[in-house]
Amino acid sequence: MYDLVEIFESLQGEGRNAGRPCVFVRFAGCNLACPWCDTDVARHFSLSLDGLLAEIGQYKPKSVVLTGGEPTLVAEMPELVAALKERGYWIAVETNGTCDAEWLAFVDYVSCSPKAEYPDRIVLRRADEVRVVASSEAAVGFCRDVQSRIAATDYYVSPCDRAGEIDFATAKSVLSQLDGWSLSVQLHKLLGFR
Ligand code: SF4
Repeated sequence: MYDLVEIFESLQGEGRNAGRPCVFVRFAGCNLACPWCDTDVARHFSLSLDGLLAEIGQYKPKSVVLTGGEPTLVAEMPELVAALKERGYWIAVETNGTCDAEWLAFVDYVSCSPKAEYPDRIVLRRADEVRVVASSEAAVGFCRDVQSRIAATDYYVSPCDRAGEIDFATAKSVLSQLDGWSLSVQLHKLLGFR
């Protein structure tokens, strides 16, 4: 069984795939406790593999984002990834980088958002994109550290959202001190969609 928070259709809001229509599957549970976390990670319902595939199949997009919480903690994920690939889905995973699950090699896109509060927990060594939230100027050092530890095609800085106040100024300052990093435009926040 898969413990879930929510399943919904939207556009990817951030990173290289911003604007792509996707089915988002949010799994319950996380192995970190970021002090500013505003993501609901509590289990709201559970589905079998067949039930989850049927639910995903109700939506039009053939792109799925496996997110959380922390989806790499889901023991039954290899079965889901294999079943989605059989059905022709493009699969992206959003992870905090604390678990280098073998099945990540079989998805189409890995987006890693390592947390500055847990630098010693990062074990992922490769991703398609890395996104770091610029919560303060200290993000410069963390970004450099992450860039040296995780090989990725794209590195993004996301502006910090403090109760609806988007801090672009700090993100811009952080970016100006880095090489090879870009701003991740958070479409969902700018345009007001989920
Ligand atoms: S890794 Fe993400 S879901 Fe987990 S506690 Fe941190 S912000 Fe919340």
